[in-house]
Formats: sequence, structure tokens, C-alpha cells
Amino acid sequence: MTPIEKIRLLKLLYQYRAMGFEYFQEYRPLSSVPSLPQTLEELKRDVAHCHLCALSKSRKNVVFGAGNLRAKVMFIGDNPGANEDETGLLYAGKSGELLAKMIENVLLVPKEEVYVTTILKCKTPQNRVPTPEEVACCKPYVMQQIQTIKPQIIVALGSTAFHHLTGEYDTPIDRVRGTVLNFGEAKLVATFHPSFLLRNPSAKKEVFADLLTIRSML
Ligand code: SF4
Repeated sequence: MTPIEKIRLLKLLYQYRAMGFEYFQEYRPLSSVPSLPQTLEELKRDVAHCHLCALSKSRKNVVFGAGNLRAKVMFIGDNPGANEDETGLLYAGKSGELLAKMIENVLLVPKEEVYVTTILKCKTPQNRVPTPEEVACCKPYVMQQIQTIKPQIIVALGSTAFHHLTGEYDTPIDRVRGTVLNFGEAKLVATFHPSFLLRNPSAKKEVFADLLTIRSML
């Protein structure tokens, strides 16, 4: 069963529970589950109504992702920030503005040329680190975005994105940042998250070096 099929089945189970069922005597085969989204637009419409985890109760907006659907570079962060949750738009807030500057001033490409998204599509309370259960519910969406866009380079922004994308939970990001790793058909480079840079401006030189590595691969 693919991750998206699991999500569909889980969604169906939640719907049955909401209707009052407490258990199932009969298993409904997947062939009776509605067809899976084929395009990013279809996926975006589905995700906009997602209630697979408790974050759906506290979010204001689902922030799906934005950019060029044929992007060579895909940036993946952890989860939307407060401003992004408020507006439903990426690049909102200081962290988003810094990311846009990193892309345009160092990679030397318009921000519309890359694709930006997050592991989780809903804000976490007080911007806390997502739980493994929340990531398990939401990660199939980002995996489908990767499969559809097929970027050549994936940039994992921060520890949460790096750990959950690669499964390298015991590897600190500062040990691998700037290193070019294999990720399926793509290359993956991890670097610090812009919000970390806002708190630790001295780390900007490392991120600058990581972005130069990425620029050399374009
Ligand atoms: S975080 Fe992901 S899985 Fe959870 S409700 Fe939002 S879109 Fe659904």
C-alpha cells in the first residue's frame, strides 16, 4: 500500500468514526476508495480539507507550497510559520523574506523559479517541533510533491526537514550541512533554516557556502 493510499484509508476510517461507528466488522477493499489525486492541483484541493491530524483544529490556513512546477530546486522546510498560517502564503514573515533573499541574491534565480514547501502543511502550536504522528500523517503529501515536480536538487531547511526526509534521525544537521547527498533521483543538500539564521546571524556564512554549492550544481 502506498503512503497516499494509507492516507485515503485513514481518512475513510476517520469519516466512519465521525458517523458513529466504533469498529468495523467488514474491511472495505481499496478498490472502493475514491481515485487518488493525479495532479498537484488535485492534491492541493484535497490537502486544503485535510483533517488527518489534530493540527487541522488549530490552523487558520493550509499552506501547500508554491513555485515553478518544473523547478530544478525544491526547498523543504518544517511547517508554516505564524504569518504563513495567517495569510496562507509562503514567504510571509521575516523568515520567508530571508529565504526569498537567499534564493534571489545568492542562487541568483527569481524565487518563482524554485518550488518551496514544508514537511507539514499546517502550523504547529507555538511553532513547536512536529510530533512523529503528525509527520506520519502529512509526509506523504510532500513525497507526492517531490514525485510530481521531480526536482534535481532538494534543499532541506533545518533539522526537522532533514531528519524526516532522510530518516537520519541520529545525524545532527551541522554534521551534514552543505554535503551533497543522494535522495532517489535527486541530490539533497541540508542547510540551516532561515528562522535559525534570524536567531543566530553568525551562521549566515555557512548557509552562504551551502547555497554556493547548490548554485554550482545548477
Ligand atoms: S498537518 Fe498535514 S496531515 Fe495534519 S491536518 Fe494539516 S495537512 Fe493534514
